[in-house]
Amino acid sequence: MRRSLSTIPTIIMTTPHFPHLLAPLDLGFTTLRNRVIMGSMHTGLEDRFYNYGKLAAFYKERAKGGVGLIVTGGISPNRSGWLLPFGGTLNFLGDVPNHRKVTSAVHEEGGKILMQILHAGRYGYQPFVVSASDRKSPISPFKPRALSEAGIQATIRDYVRCARLARKAGYDGVEVMGSEGYLLNQFLCSRTNLRTDRWGGSIENRMRLPVEIVKRIRAAVGPDFIIMYRHSLLDLVDGGNTWDDVLAVAKALQHAGVTILNTGIGWHEARVPTIVTSVPRAAFASVAGRLRREVTIPVVASNRINMPGEAEAIIARGDADMVSMARPFLADPEFVVKAAAGRVDEINTCIGCNQACLDHTFSNKRASCLVNPRACHETELVYKAAAKRRKVAVVGAGPAGLSAATVAAECGHEVTLFDSSDSIGGQFKVAMQIPGKEEFAETIRYFKRKVELTGVNLKLGQRVTRDDLLAGGYDDVIVATGIKVRKPPIEGIEHPKVLSYLDVLAHKKPVGKRVAIIGAGGIGFDVGEYLLHDSRHALPLAVDTWTREWGVDLKATTGGGLVEPHAEEPVRQLYLLQRKTTKLGAGLGKTSGWVHRAVLARNGVVMLAGVQYNKIDDHGLHITVDGGERLLAVDNVIICAGQDSLAELMPPAGAAPAAPGATRFHKIGGAALASELDAKRAIKEGAELAVSL
Ligand code: FAD
Ligand code: NAP
Ligand code: SF4
Repeated sequence: MRRSLSTIPTIIMTTPHFPHLLAPLDLGFTTLRNRVIMGSMHTGLEDRFYNYGKLAAFYKERAKGGVGLIVTGGISPNRSGWLLPFGGTLNFLGDVPNHRKVTSAVHEEGGKILMQILHAGRYGYQPFVVSASDRKSPISPFKPRALSEAGIQATIRDYVRCARLARKAGYDGVEVMGSEGYLLNQFLCSRTNLRTDRWGGSIENRMRLPVEIVKRIRAAVGPDFIIMYRHSLLDLVDGGNTWDDVLAVAKALQHAGVTILNTGIGWHEARVPTIVTSVPRAAFASVAGRLRREVTIPVVASNRINMPGEAEAIIARGDADMVSMARPFLADPEFVVKAAAGRVDEINTCIGCNQACLDHTFSNKRASCLVNPRACHETELVYKAAAKRRKVAVVGAGPAGLSAATVAAECGHEVTLFDSSDSIGGQFKVAMQIPGKEEFAETIRYFKRKVELTGVNLKLGQRVTRDDLLAGGYDDVIVATGIKVRKPPIEGIEHPKVLSYLDVLAHKKPVGKRVAIIGAGGIGFDVGEYLLHDSRHALPLAVDTWTREWGVDLKATTGGGLVEPHAEEPVRQLYLLQRKTTKLGAGLGKTSGWVHRAVLARNGVVMLAGVQYNKIDDHGLHITVDGGERLLAVDNVIICAGQDSLAELMPPAGAAPAAPGATRFHKIGGAALASELDAKRAIKEGAELAVSL
């Protein structure tokens, strides 16, 4: 049953916190309970009918958490629009009952939900792809077929049928996806639209398809159904639209019957990052503001907005009527209720890492969240009261131990958490020193508060021993002691010019102007970015510094909003080295690795693969590469050669299994496996172990 506005939790309607963000929005025929949109995210659950129960549980938690308007992941209007083979569709009456599970779940919690209609065009990773022209995209191996006049007409009909079925399935409206380089964006820009018929050429012709689709959907669904259109404000690709084009399209869409204009920044093939953690918060809000001053319908700001303070400021200064946040709702389904209650310090903040969300999506895996492993697993990873309260010691307050301790306490166990350091966070305290990873501090802040709220007994400054643990009478000991840094056996490794990454990042030892980095994993790249940071620019980078570095013109006076990046003299000469012969950085995140590689390349870092390390001496680092010996005359050599597990608190290998009733020992995170370690696995392992105790 749909709840009326008056039954929505009063906290959302009457809160003194974030008054602009949490004010209702009257759309004439319906009212949204606040200005917060949970933006569209492909979770992987929408692609299979048997996962719609899980999908409904995912959205239900977010609706219960108070979000004003939810947008589903992209649902294709037809087969040629699939993003992936057999992607989610709504083409037949038979699909409606699956979608009803989702809409009912959201309505039961007083929420509203739109279904996103997404035709991938040439971004489809499948053989039936179509586009405005037959230009292949750099991110899909499949060459599209240019739609014929009849094909265009059929596509319009498919959009309309999809919207009609969405209404039948109980959605409050649809979002027509027109940005990020998908089909409608492909028609809008001369980069991909080379047509000479009435669907190509002038902007009036290029916008004909999206405008026609909106007009025809409006005519089919009537006036009391939300049509949100996601419009690309900055394409960030050559051959993208200028601001005049963007504005002309927005006005035509408004005229065609759009209720709300959502905004998008950058095509997927753009070589400018738009959402990774190094993009300054709310970097593109001013562009939405320029649009808002030109149209009369509500405008939504999006991209790298992850906390209520930024969202409130955007609406308060008039840059938007609503704010769309997507990944922040993977990280914390209760974002809105916490904001409304002034409990901002309890929000589990999205750190923009992409590691469990977009990287999963692009690897065809179910999305989740590094800081919240329950995301998209709501029915499988359940934090509920344990049958028996156990006395639990967790050693190590890094991500793994923090996750285990707080979830175990939430499940009702008596938990003591030890760390030898005088503060929590483990290696995340080191990670947050990296330019662009400042957000990692938010995870530590979240866990600090969670430790207080769940009643974990925190003992800092205590390096515990196995004897301490055995004497403590614990039912369970969770060893989450992390790693020890690997020191490779290279001749001269004890030379004073050799530093470990911890010497540099944690102990702030001075580093010279010419530096060789041994090891090009995630930490080698991070150390590179740290050493290249120009101290004249405060961190996190201001928006104008960042746009200059990446060559972005927020005014889009040029096509796509691209200008020449501003190149500054690098502050150091760096060599980044690895023994493998593969491309450096190949193991970095699918959707973020290219950003790290681009920053280092822009700063003239010499990247060498297939290196053999011969010795380190007063002259520098002696290597063999490409069959020849070379001396890198460097001031310092920084070791980033991985880690080994630190798990000495565990029972010795081969020890007899614990007798019934004796203390059980478990290990998680870096202590369990140091190679390929990342915080995603550490936090997930901690939570999964805690619920299994
Ligand atoms: P740790 O974080 O190492 O925590 C172990 C804790 O145990 C420490 O606090 C230590 O003080 C404590 N301890 C050890 N022995 C004892 C003892 N005997 N008694 C009491 N306390 C003890 N991961 C990502 O996923 N994404 C990234 O982008 C990323 N970037 C990184 C950048 C850098 C520069 C670094 C250094 C790491 C990065 N990581 C990243 C890795 C991530 O930080 C680790 O995967 C994660 O911290 C591992 O968590 P953990 O809890 O297993 O161990
Ligand atoms: P890593 O990714 O395993 O990289 C270790 C590097 O050291 C590799 O380049 C390896 O390359 C080299 N190496 C290993 N043994 C060596 C030896 N004996 N001598 C010389 N070189 C050696 O580990 P990491 O960079 O330390 O990162 C630790 C974990 O943190 C990673 O697993 C990663 O998941 C996580 N992290 C993630 C990010 C991110 O952005 N997602 C960032 C930082 C860290 P060769 O063997 O080819 O020489
Ligand atoms: Fe945000 Fe990282 Fe979680 Fe994705 S995985 S939602 S980027 S914190």
